[in-house]
Amino acid sequence: MIDDSPELVVIIQCEDVVKRCSGFLCMSDFYEKLGKFTGYADETRYMAITCGSCCGNLLTPKLENLGMRLRKAGISKDDVTVHFASCVCSDNAHRQPCPFMNRMRALLNRKGFNNIELGSHISQKAEAKRQAGIYKQW
Ligand code: SF4
Ligand code: SF4
Repeated sequence: MIDDSPELVVIIQCEDVVKRCSGFLCMSDFYEKLGKFTGYADETRYMAITCGSCCGNLLTPKLENLGMRLRKAGISKDDVTVHFASCVCSDNAHRQPCPFMNRMRALLNRKGFNNIELGSHISQKAEAKRQAGIYKQW
């Protein structure tokens, strides 16, 4: 990478929410470099996974699998940035913030993923409700 951008951005989405949401807006915001993805280099790659279900335990085998794939691809975990999707870390139209986010953050740290950001697609309606104090901030 020619700048500080990670080689790979991994978005963790809520297993419950993606039963209703395709995740399209997370993906399009990443490629449009909007909101929480502002400033990433063109070369940064993107993938989305789900938490696996409450209480986030199934994230562990996914992270082990990802770690193995990264090793084989020659990508350091230090060059990976993990975003908790907005539907995980904030009130949103689908549900309340995830009560297990800090637990999942600890799982990420235990598996060596230490670059963690909060948020992905920023809905204008949800942002207005956060500013008005109706939705809880992350
Ligand atoms: S942040 Fe929004 S677009 Fe992304 S997966 Fe969650 S609900 Fe879908
Ligand atoms: S509430 Fe949290 S642990 Fe449960 S499915 Fe959603 S993101 Fe995963």
